[in-house]
Amino acid sequence: MKRGLPIVLLALAVPVVALLPLPDFWIAQLNYIGLYALVSLGLVLLTGVGGLTSFGQAAFVGIGAYTTAWLTLNTGMSPWLTLFVGLALTAISALIVGLITLRMSGHYLPLATIAWGLSLYYLMGNLDALGKYDGLLGLKSLSIGSINLGQGRLFFVLCWALLLGSAVALLNLLDSRPGRAIRSLKGGTQMAEAMGINTFRYKVTIFVIAALLAAVAGWLLAHFQRTVNPSAFGLKMGIEYLFMTVVGGVGYVWGAIVGAGLVKLLDDWLQVALPALIGTSGSYEVIVFGVALVLVLKYLPEGLWSVVARKFPKPDRLVDWVDADDLPVRSKPQNGERVLVVDNIRKQFGGLVAVNDISFEITAGQIVGLIGPNGAGKSTTFNLITGGLNKTSGRVTFLGEDVTALPSREISRKGMARTFQHVKLIADMTVLENVAMGAYMRGSSGVVSSMLRANQAEEQRLMKEAQRQLERIGMGDYLHEQVGNLAMGPQRLMEIARALCCDPALLLLDEPAAGLRHMEKQALAAVLHQLQGEGMSILLVEHDMDLVMDVCDQLVVMEFGTLLTRGTPAEVQANPAVRAAYLGTEH
Ligand code: ADP
Ligand code: MG
Repeated sequence: MKRGLPIVLLALAVPVVALLPLPDFWIAQLNYIGLYALVSLGLVLLTGVGGLTSFGQAAFVGIGAYTTAWLTLNTGMSPWLTLFVGLALTAISALIVGLITLRMSGHYLPLATIAWGLSLYYLMGNLDALGKYDGLLGLKSLSIGSINLGQGRLFFVLCWALLLGSAVALLNLLDSRPGRAIRSLKGGTQMAEAMGINTFRYKVTIFVIAALLAAVAGWLLAHFQRTVNPSAFGLKMGIEYLFMTVVGGVGYVWGAIVGAGLVKLLDDWLQVALPALIGTSGSYEVIVFGVALVLVLKYLPEGLWSVVARKFPKPDRLVDWVDADDLPVRSKPQNGERVLVVDNIRKQFGGLVAVNDISFEITAGQIVGLIGPNGAGKSTTFNLITGGLNKTSGRVTFLGEDVTALPSREISRKGMARTFQHVKLIADMTVLENVAMGAYMRGSSGVVSSMLRANQAEEQRLMKEAQRQLERIGMGDYLHEQVGNLAMGPQRLMEIARALCCDPALLLLDEPAAGLRHMEKQALAAVLHQLQGEGMSILLVEHDMDLVMDVCDQLVVMEFGTLLTRGTPAEVQANPAVRAAYLGTEH
């Protein structure tokens, strides 16, 4: 399926529906669906893509609705202006709520959004100026000049045009430099931060975008219903918005529309059917929704749209960047210059000294191997150098600069790139997109320009670089594969290509040969030799002694967190202490 096909179909369907002699009731239903889908779209970005669950979206709908209601009724301001006031108020409140809550992990964020949704509901219900629980009545419909958009077909066109525009903007965003950063959030922040991405900033950003979409829906809703009251913006609606998104397919932009449509129609039908069935009236539909949600989560956890998406796999990206300019490269240290100085770094986990005052150096063009038995403290040392862990004490100097206290994204921006002992990738992205994450800090396009597709020249430069790095290590045939479908060997090589995309002055590889088959190890050794020939400086943590002895210029041997010895591979091999501790005495 062409990426744009659903967009084109919907864009054609909207005017057709508006012209068809459908009953007004159906147009009204479609209007509600469009409004709900707008909110749900925000949740696709926030929850489905970003992994941040919010029950509080209805509160942002409320801010959009109450702002325009109060302002148009009390000041006579045009609704086209109040929209922007509402968006501004929403952005400010989302920013405040986001900055406070988004640092929380696990269940705290959903709980915090519930608290936020509840408190705003009671605020709206208790303010005299907002009409307390009766709300505000007598709003005007939207109009353009003398044309009243009313509640019918013209409103439908406006509402669905906004919805489609937002959907296209989101699709554009997800397929871009900031979009790849957003898509990485769900898998934890360690890898993204190591690629120079400020993950917290992106969490706040998508929280604000989702809130703005909700506020637009609120603005529309206020003028559609011509009245606002707190019940439409309470926690029950907050849950229902999340429910729609999950049912439709929380990871899919089009799932928002499917989910909103299904829930709205089912809701109406159940409100009529259930009382008839049971004999008394009540909000029984809530129970049915609860059961349905459990069933969907169990049998179709990715929602209804996932069935459609699976039938029509994404097409390969067109390689349309052959003519793109190359990305600028940083100036590299001269051969023999000191690249990294590790000075007495130490890490204690409670009583355990995982890294005990380790010191060593790497000069430009060297491959230094960090070896030692399992649990010796190699990965911890690695994380202390790259900024993934805070040091208990000690100093790290990189290219003459003290980077001891910097977070990993700042250190990687200075030219230190790494791979992970446990491969960290975004399984539903292609190899090319995963590798392009490495080039993140070499681009600059932001959220808005990506939504408007003004980022294409840069995007092509990033893709060209990703392709070049993949070809450099012999993975040119894998560009469009889903990375999650690859074997361990190509996945580890992919991580090296991603690190090379950072344009590093120092490359840190954590057990790149772990889990590789013989042939794959040979390919890896060839890549390392090639990088060595190009003058790359490398710190290599590795268990495979053949590989280490083959490629390393210098070895640093650790045992129980302490430095056992340093030297050339030959010296280390001849050292009896190393043989005793590491290789086994009689080896
Ligand atoms: P290696 O990479 O050499 O196998 P690690 O650096 O992973 O060793 O671990 C060194 C020691 O530190 C081990 O005893 C390990 O259990 C401990 N360790 C590593 N990470 C943590 C942590 N986050 N909390 C507590 N102990 C840890
Ligand atoms: Mg390790």
